Amino acid sequence: MRISSLPIGAALAEAYEKRGITDLYPPQEECVSSGLFEGANLLISIPTASGKTLVAEMAMHHHISGNGKCLYVVPLRALASEKFDEFSERGAKIGIATGDLDRRDDYLGRNEIIIATSEKVDSLLRNGAGWLKSVSCLILDEAHLIDSPDRGATLEMVITKLRYLNPEMQIIALTATIGNPKIFAGWLNATLVKSEWRPVDLKEGIFYRNSIFFGEELKAITPVTKHEDVNLCLDCIKDGGQCLVFVNSRRNAESFAKRMAQALKPEKSELPDLKKKLEEAADTEMGKTLAVCAGYGAAFHHAGMKREQRAIIEKNFRNGNIKVISSTPTLAAGLNLPARRVVIRDYLRFKAGEGMQAIPVREYRQMAGRAGRPHLDPYGEAVLIAKSEEVGAGLYEEFIEAPAEDVKSRLDDNYILTGQVLSLIATGFVKNKEELAEFLDRTFYRYLNRSMKHLEETLDEIIDFLVSSGMITVIDDCLSATRYGSLVSRLYINPYSADIITTELKYSDRTEAEITDDLTITELKHTKDSEEIKSFTDIGLLQMLCVTPDMYTLFVRKSDIPMLEIFLYEHEDELWSGVSYDSMEEDFRVLKTAMMLNDWISEVNEETVCKRYNIGPGDIHNSVESINWLLYSASGIAAMMAPLHKKHLYDLSLRMKHGIKKELLPLVKFRNIGRVRARRLYNNNIRTVTDLKKAGYDKVSLVIGQKNAKSIFDEIIRSEGDDGNVNRTHDDEIFNK
Ligand code: ADP
Repeated sequence: MRISSLPIGAALAEAYEKRGITDLYPPQEECVSSGLFEGANLLISIPTASGKTLVAEMAMHHHISGNGKCLYVVPLRALASEKFDEFSERGAKIGIATGDLDRRDDYLGRNEIIIATSEKVDSLLRNGAGWLKSVSCLILDEAHLIDSPDRGATLEMVITKLRYLNPEMQIIALTATIGNPKIFAGWLNATLVKSEWRPVDLKEGIFYRNSIFFGEELKAITPVTKHEDVNLCLDCIKDGGQCLVFVNSRRNAESFAKRMAQALKPEKSELPDLKKKLEEAADTEMGKTLAVCAGYGAAFHHAGMKREQRAIIEKNFRNGNIKVISSTPTLAAGLNLPARRVVIRDYLRFKAGEGMQAIPVREYRQMAGRAGRPHLDPYGEAVLIAKSEEVGAGLYEEFIEAPAEDVKSRLDDNYILTGQVLSLIATGFVKNKEELAEFLDRTFYRYLNRSMKHLEETLDEIIDFLVSSGMITVIDDCLSATRYGSLVSRLYINPYSADIITTELKYSDRTEAEITDDLTITELKHTKDSEEIKSFTDIGLLQMLCVTPDMYTLFVRKSDIPMLEIFLYEHEDELWSGVSYDSMEEDFRVLKTAMMLNDWISEVNEETVCKRYNIGPGDIHNSVESINWLLYSASGIAAMMAPLHKKHLYDLSLRMKHGIKKELLPLVKFRNIGRVRARRLYNNNIRTVTDLKKAGYDKVSLVIGQKNAKSIFDEIIRSEGDDGNVNRTHDDEIFNK
């Protein structure tokens, strides 16, 4: 079927033709004949790189030509930017929504295509973004992630809410191979397009004793080094290929890249530009190791790295500079980086409480599906490394020939369901229990589980909790959210998190209020000081926030325990919740995370934090991002429920954002001033806005350079001209609204 014959507008057809895309692939043809351009819902279950995104893009342009609005939902923020860049090349008005979770972002509605994560769409729904009611086409990328334990429930509710708002909307769900596509399609009221067709053939095999067994065919691999995984890559590179190697831990990814670089060193001249770029982005040992390895064409890729480092690696793999990437499975789920040979070295992974477990077949497929670069490779190869002959035989059945797992609903988690029930009440989707049950009837969860009894009991428990925590009221069967409940829903934090925060903050607020009422000034001062130590230290607040279900906590190793015990001994008085024998592992995770964040705001340098806690810079970044959302939310809650804490929380969130001690706060409010420059100014006795003015432009530029000094003084002049409030920032506006 010719692209030029499709109703997608001349501009898009021309853009495709320029890229050599003139005819549809067979599964794409099937999508067209299944009603792609007639508004039919489709579940497209075809292998990676066989043209799913292109089908979605064609459908979106068809809608745009009829004045429709398209929402493209992705699982990861990084994927949102990738799709934004891809779609922007072809003329549509595109918006990307990945920002803060309590904004309505009305401007987004002016676009024809809006790309967003499911969390962002859910928060837009909660904050009442009106344009969501006019979505005519919903694309669900990686729709099998409805089964993801931490994100699946949000995706499921977003789909359900959007269908409720827009009954006529076309849904196009793109998915990897799943075990129960008919059932999933049934829920979506969609036609299933299922195919195993691939643009580049895929051979799947098992490596054992220097040979790959591709079914009947056997391929010998020359053992150049004593490492089988390295030999498999060298064999592919010598014929012009590139490899992805999947391993089960960050440490394994790094050590493999080191061995690989060692093996490539004699073969390849160094890549000085790439090495230099990565050296510039490196603040830690890990970053330096990455620079050295990548200089020889081998790199690693995992969630502990900085975004900037990952972007450099991806780009240089695409342009062929890097020959091998070893990765934890983050890469398989995320970006589109095909390679001629994919080596699945570790098919077992550690799972807390269960030991080493085989990875799911769906994950294997997703990794294997990366094999074969269209137009570059004659075929792709996915290779599992067997530890023994017996294991090798088992791997065929366990992965290559096994059916993929079914997708199921994740709304069976009460914590998650509670947040969703609150949001349904707060946003007026439902007004009483019957409507709530009716609404939930539309979910995938109910499609799979028709028994009503269990759901009724669960809903009763949830409503009881929401009433007793003050988030909703029930009057004459009518459910409505309180002001506090609406705030929690808009802030997009779990009601259980909000309840922990409110209970703790109110408790210490009340203590203070009582003290104020009952004691003399001297007594008050004395008592308040000691109270403050107990209730208000940074570590106390951080520990309290790390206990909430919204905070992802760091893994605790045996070697961490002595450090944690000493800290606990020294700071026990400041902690809001203790460490109990029954939940020791969880409590220590909380404590370790709070300690790490406390180091961060005490200006301990990144390298030391990484070493002390055995983590990467990416982990610091992720933890800071989540705690900052909680600090922001807690500050909003405090403003309503426990005002005495608001200032402390606000200061703490600014300190967290910049990684600074309290004394630098007046300086980081300037746009170009972060952790390092503020410290430099402070150490030169320039500590406040008055000091800056007194020191003058010349002295300040000696300390932090002319450009930064100019920017500071421009800002001072501007704001003095405004309202005299020098330090007003975007954050002030948010926190004080
Ligand atoms: P998927 O979303 O299934 O991973 P994509 O839609 O991203 O696959 O397509 C993978 C690659 O194949 C892209 O570079 C895309 O431009 C190209 N492609 C898609 N459809 C065709 C086609 N009909 N003819 C030629 N190339 C195509």
